[in-house]
Amino acid sequence: MRVLMIAPPGAGKGTQGALIAAHFNIPHIATGELLRDHVARQTALGQAVQAYLDRGELVPDQIVLDMVREAMIAAKASGGGFVLDGIPRNMEQARAAYEIGLELEMTADVALHLQAGDAELTRRLLARAALEHRSDDTPEVIAQRLALYHEVTSPLLAWYRGRGILVCVDAMRSAPEVGREILATLEAVHPSLDRAPPRERPPWA
Ligand code: ADP
Repeated sequence: MRVLMIAPPGAGKGTQGALIAAHFNIPHIATGELLRDHVARQTALGQAVQAYLDRGELVPDQIVLDMVREAMIAAKASGGGFVLDGIPRNMEQARAAYEIGLELEMTADVALHLQAGDAELTRRLLARAALEHRSDDTPEVIAQRLALYHEVTSPLLAWYRGRGILVCVDAMRSAPEVGREILATLEAVHPSLDRAPPRERPPWA
């Protein structure tokens, strides 16, 4: 099972990504978590990205793509499945992730979209802020992350719909309810569905 998630902040990517990973016994590759871990450990990369995270902006594409390539190579060695959480977030990342997938012969079977409205997302993120103290869960930064999602990430949905791998799930329900629907939906997916738009396919594919 190879899944990528397209969802706004607060929709439950982390929770549902962990559930999918445990259910299918595949690695959960969460770019936000990987980046926050670098920040916490104060690595050179962590120091370079911290300001982007604090402002709710995207870190440079190449940084996350290098991370994801490395994680996908490890995923290939451990069976070939994965659940990507947090990437792609813009069209460049979507194209690059697809190229990495082609190169490793592990393009995504499903693009899972978790749908939820901004008011509910903001409510959830502010509730989380009280518990987790993430530097980007403040009202201003939440608004910035949601705006960025609508502007640069949500247009990817059409691209995945065109590839025939988009699946949408209503995330405006409790986490267990959403989780049950996701697993039932993924269990019903036939991995041969990938139909890349012709111009995205290299001549040899
Ligand atoms: P959320 O979806 O709630 O914003 P994430 O944990 O996925 O949470 O991401 C947190 C932050 O990490 C983002 O605001 C951004 O700064 C950075 N980030 C994560 N993934 C990417 C990515 N693919 N490209 C650029 N920046 C990213």
